[in-house]
Amino acid sequence: AREVGAKRWHAPAYTPDGVHISVLANISFKDDVHMAQDNGADGIGLVRTEYLLSERETFPDEEEQFAYYSHIISEQNSREIVIRVMDIGGDKAAKFLKMPKEGNPFMGWRAVRILLERKELFRTQLRAIIRAGQGSNYKIMYPMVTSLSEWREIKQFTHVVADELGLPCPPLGILFEVPLAILEIDSFLEDIDFASIGTNDLIQYLSAADRNNSKVNYLYNPAEPAFLRIVDKAIDACTDKGIPISICGEMAGDPMYTIILLGLGLTRFSVIPAMVPIVKEIVSKINFLEIQEELSHLLSVTEIDNIADWIEKKNEELLSDIF
Ligand code: PEP
Ligand code: MG
Repeated sequence: AREVGAKRWHAPAYTPDGVHISVLANISFKDDVHMAQDNGADGIGLVRTEYLLSERETFPDEEEQFAYYSHIISEQNSREIVIRVMDIGGDKAAKFLKMPKEGNPFMGWRAVRILLERKELFRTQLRAIIRAGQGSNYKIMYPMVTSLSEWREIKQFTHVVADELGLPCPPLGILFEVPLAILEIDSFLEDIDFASIGTNDLIQYLSAADRNNSKVNYLYNPAEPAFLRIVDKAIDACTDKGIPISICGEMAGDPMYTIILLGLGLTRFSVIPAMVPIVKEIVSKINFLEIQEELSHLLSVTEIDNIADWIEKKNEELLSDIF
């Protein structure tokens, strides 16, 4: 296998027919930012800020959070960075919160549901992010948004916090990972500056198959046609309205699915740092218009086997010299 990566992919990636595809990185820890840089990421598409809380007994105060965000932002120069507010709950319990015992934590008190109830925590995080973001190309993203009224409350609260600081509000976007929200994505588009799809959670909610339970793993399938059609519709809806949309779930950085997502018309990928050069390499081999044409025919055929066969064929055709 030929070595991919190194300096070659520090440049922007284009498909052979000249479409620019952004390849951003997902980061969870402070030093991941260097890995993103070293691997040639075009920016950061997801900062999982809840990792700030790992093993902590107390909530970090505004100054501590400010120092953390300032550090990761300062490494970006003018590159874009999308900071996600804390996605606590689900499988990521926070010690200081005294989380209630829940029968279904993934469907329970989680992410913005916690922040909207514990506004003092929400305010502290937003103040730290907005202060740290000044002068940079930063955006704020919100996980687990379910309804439009919830979104309006989140947005208004963020504007109030920015106003209190006397600072401008950055672009605000939603991480679409709850089926209700993505199925109604049209109704959110007037109210958001950008969108991202959290396929890790979205697939588990659509298939009612826990993302961490190996017993039901066989049902958790990113190649499921019903799921791909939902993603396709969301990409089209955003593209029509000129709203940038990315995918930051694990599937975006899995070469098997990178090809599919290009075929659905996705132009923004956010992946673990190590996969950035590989995704850029794949992009450089795929004709954007042709792959969309091919996949749209295939998606009109409902059988999952057709998709699986196609993925296998494409991977052999396109990826054999990469791996
Ligand atoms: C997702 O759900 O796809 C996602 C990006 O967020 P997380 O994996 O942190 O839940
Ligand atoms: Mg998620």
